[in-house]
Order: sequence, then C-alpha cells, then structure tokens
Amino acid sequence: NFGVEQTKKWMQELNQRLQLQKAYLTELDQAIGDGDHGLNMARGFQEVVYKISIIDYKDVGSLFKDIGMVLLSKVGGASGPLYGTVFLKAANEVKGKESLETKDLAAAFTASLEGVKMRGKANLGDKTMVDVWEPVVAYLQGDQVDWDTFISLAKTNMENTEQLEAKKGRAAYLGKRSIGHLDPGAVSSFYFFAELAKVCK
Ligand code: ADP
Ligand code: MG
Ligand code: MG
Repeated sequence: NFGVEQTKKWMQELNQRLQLQKAYLTELDQAIGDGDHGLNMARGFQEVVYKISIIDYKDVGSLFKDIGMVLLSKVGGASGPLYGTVFLKAANEVKGKESLETKDLAAAFTASLEGVKMRGKANLGDKTMVDVWEPVVAYLQGDQVDWDTFISLAKTNMENTEQLEAKKGRAAYLGKRSIGHLDPGAVSSFYFFAELAKVCK
C-alpha cells in the first residue's frame, strides 16, 4: 500500500536521481530544445522535497496537491505546468485517501495523463513525455501489475522516442532533425515511474 510515507520516499528518491542526472537531462535538451530540462526538474523537485518534509500530511491527496502547487509555481517552461498538472489531477482523484492501492494509482495517473494531454495537446508518437505516460498508464490499469515489467515498459518507450520526429514542444521546430535524439521529458518521466515502482515493489 502506498501512503504519505511512501509518497515522501518516492519524492526523495526521484529528487536524488534528478540531481544526479541534471547534466544529462540538460545535455538532452541542448540537442533538441533550450537546454534547461535538467535545471527545471532538479530545481522543482528540490523545492518539492523541502516543502513536503516540513509538513505532517494526513492523506495522499493533500500531499499530491502541495507537490503540484510547488511544481506549478517554481518551475517554468513546459515541464513545470505539465508535471504540476500531473500532481494536481492525481490529487483530485485520490482526495482524502490515506492509502492507495494499485487501482487508485492507476485512476490517479489516468487523470494526470488526461490533464497533460489536454494542456499540451500532444498525442502518442509526438516525441514528448506522453510517449512514456500512455503505455505505462495503460499497463497500470490492467489486473496484474509486475513492477519490474512496469519499469522495463517505461524504459523501452523512453528509448523509442529517439527515432520519433517531434510534433510538440520546442523540439518540433527542428522537424526531422529531432530524429536521433531522446526526448528529455520522456527520460524524466522514465525516472518518475522507475522511482515510483521501486517504492511499490
Ligand atoms: P521547455 O521546453 O519549455 O524549455 P523543458 O525543457 O523543461 O521545457 O521540458 C521539455 C519537455 O517537456 C519535452 O522534452 C517534452 O517531453 C515535454 N513537452 C513539451 N511540450 C509538450 C507538450 N505540448 N505536451 C507534452 N509534453 C511536452
Ligand atoms: Mg527546455
Ligand atoms: Mg525552457
């Protein structure tokens, strides 16, 4: 079961990974964007960890809501509002719940994905974070969730973004020249889900 303690643990581990991969994410964004994705994510989740560590949350919904608010207010670019939307939509879905089962996580992230797609207008294959989110959320909706399979699925779909031509975000300005590079937001989304899975295992 996934409660306040697990959510905090997930945020700490994700933050640590983002700090470690800050230069790498920046390098990926330098190739097809403006080179700030590592900075945006590292700053945003550092702020998240500061904020949530000092508050004693009673339920996962209010914790998700605070995470979303921090990301929305502290992170610029496309990723701040998009990851902010992820947590605000998820918060709304699990309002008042002290502990989540896999099916609650599935419902929460389904709402998140809908929010991201509504906000960013990206579809599967547009070389964005949606290319990781959509298959992973579909798998999470199934009856049986194996967390190692879940991580592999996120990884494979992250790697697949390399061959895609960007249709949304800054990378879309490059057209076919975006082919041959990983999408930075797909990589950060892989970290997001991989660290979640480690806590759920
Ligand atoms: P910015 O491009 O504004 O500098 P970031 O570099 O932090 O923002 O984030 C870039 C990532 O955001 C991209 O790699 C992509 O995954 C994601 N992204 C950008 N635009 C969209 C969109 N319209 N829909 C979904 N994801 C998007
Ligand atoms: Mg950028
Ligand atoms: Mg930017």
